Amino acid sequence: MTRWRAELTTAKTLPGTRPMLIALLPAPADQVTALRMLDQGMLDEQTGLGGPWSETLQVANGAGVYVPTVFPATSGYELEYQRTGLVCTVRINVTGAGAAVNNNLARSKQIWEGNIERAWNRRYKLTNANHDIPLIFNVNFTSSSAHHNVTAHAGVPVWPGLNMTNWFVDDPSTNRANRDYVNNAAIHEFGHMIGNPDEYQLSQAHYTATVGTNPTTDPNATATPDTAGTNSYTNTNSVMGGQLPGTNLPGPVQMRHVQFMTTWLNAHRNATEPAFTLATA
Ligand SMILES: [Zn+2]
Repeated sequence: MTRWRAELTTAKTLPGTRPMLIALLPAPADQVTALRMLDQGMLDEQTGLGGPWSETLQVANGAGVYVPTVFPATSGYELEYQRTGLVCTVRINVTGAGAAVNNNLARSKQIWEGNIERAWNRRYKLTNANHDIPLIFNVNFTSSSAHHNVTAHAGVPVWPGLNMTNWFVDDPSTNRANRDYVNNAAIHEFGHMIGNPDEYQLSQAHYTATVGTNPTTDPNATATPDTAGTNSYTNTNSVMGGQLPGTNLPGPVQMRHVQFMTTWLNAHRNATEPAFTLATA
């Protein structure tokens, strides 16, 4: 093992390794890939992941009766399998208008990035007999090759005004509870950007399909009846569900929200690598 590491160090530092790779690979994109394999231990990557998805929420009409309402969205991200982690990168281009937005946007991007990465990073790992691969999430606020475009607003959102493509900046003219809410809502909206639907205001069938448990027996499900007595169900222990009870903060990321990374890694592991399973990190 020690000798192996010494060889890797040699490969990385030997004068001539990089010029040789560049000479062998005339295409700049191939050069970048080879240097990432050398420097980051990159084993595989895939860009352009994601696509259209939709969800059906129970939305009350004027008479207070739930009407199943379809909300469409499109996910977009890329995955990079490094020896030290499986990295999900999402590039988000946020633009907005008005002084209240512009004065607070740069600071809000830093808050959103910190909150999203703190909530999603290294909560779970992919594991087999040989390796533990932590799941890492990398949010870049950039206009370059963005996976998502978001419009920033200021003030207090009214549902469903804050959603995957409309975020609210940390506006000091609003109260602390609102600021905490909009700063942390990005954690939930990020979940949509990588393909996760909402886990609130769901019919029994949609709850069962989305969460994987029947809401009538799920201790984390709350039921809210409409005026006709039909229940909708919300999960209160999930980043994609309702707020944590007694707070205006999203709940935790659950395994089902990162299951797509297990599927991807098992399709992209080396032929001799045993299958990975998802576990708490
Ligand atoms: Zn949502």
